[in-house]
Amino acid sequence: MPQSDWLLPQPDMSVQVNALRDNEGNLLPDALGALLAMAGDSYIEQVPAFDIDGTPVVPPDRHVLDHLARSCALVDEETELLHPFAATTVYVMFGDRYECDICKTPESARYDSPLLVAAGATNGYLCEACARRVVTALGGDGATYLMAADEVPANIQAKVDARLAELGSDTIFT
Ligand SMILES: [Zn+2]
Repeated sequence: MPQSDWLLPQPDMSVQVNALRDNEGNLLPDALGALLAMAGDSYIEQVPAFDIDGTPVVPPDRHVLDHLARSCALVDEETELLHPFAATTVYVMFGDRYECDICKTPESARYDSPLLVAAGATNGYLCEACARRVVTALGGDGATYLMAADEVPANIQAKVDARLAELGSDTIFT
C-alpha cells in the first residue's frame, strides 16, 4: 500500500511544507518544527478511555497501525515528516507487562498516564481498576493504552510483518 496509508489521515502538510524546502528540495526541519508549533494540539486525536458502561476503549486499528508504522520504521522519513501528528493513544508492548504504580499488582499495567502526585506531575503505569478512577481520555495529554503484541489484530500483524520482510528486516509478530 502507499506509504501514507500507514499513518493517520491528516491535513496535507505538503501544501505548507513545500514552502519549507531548500533549493535542493530538502525539507528544512526547523521550519517544519515552527509550523507544527503553530498548529499546536489541534490535530492530535483523542478517544475516551472508557465507554459509557465502563468498558475500556481499545484504540482504533488506524491508531495501532500508525504507532507501529512509526516505531518499526515502516515508512520513510519524508512520509513521516509529512504526517507529523502521530497516534498517541496506543503503545504496543513486546515484553512483559509492568506492575501498576498505584496498587502494585504485578504485570497488570494497561495504561501509561500522566499523574499528579505530591512531588508534582509525573507519569505512571496503571492497571485497569486504578485507571478507571483517574484516566478519562487516551491520546494527546491523556493516557496511552498499553497493548500487548499478541493483542494486535491479526490483520495488522500480517501487514506489519509483510512490510518488514519487504524491507529486509526481521519480522516481529511471527
Ligand atoms: Zn492498580
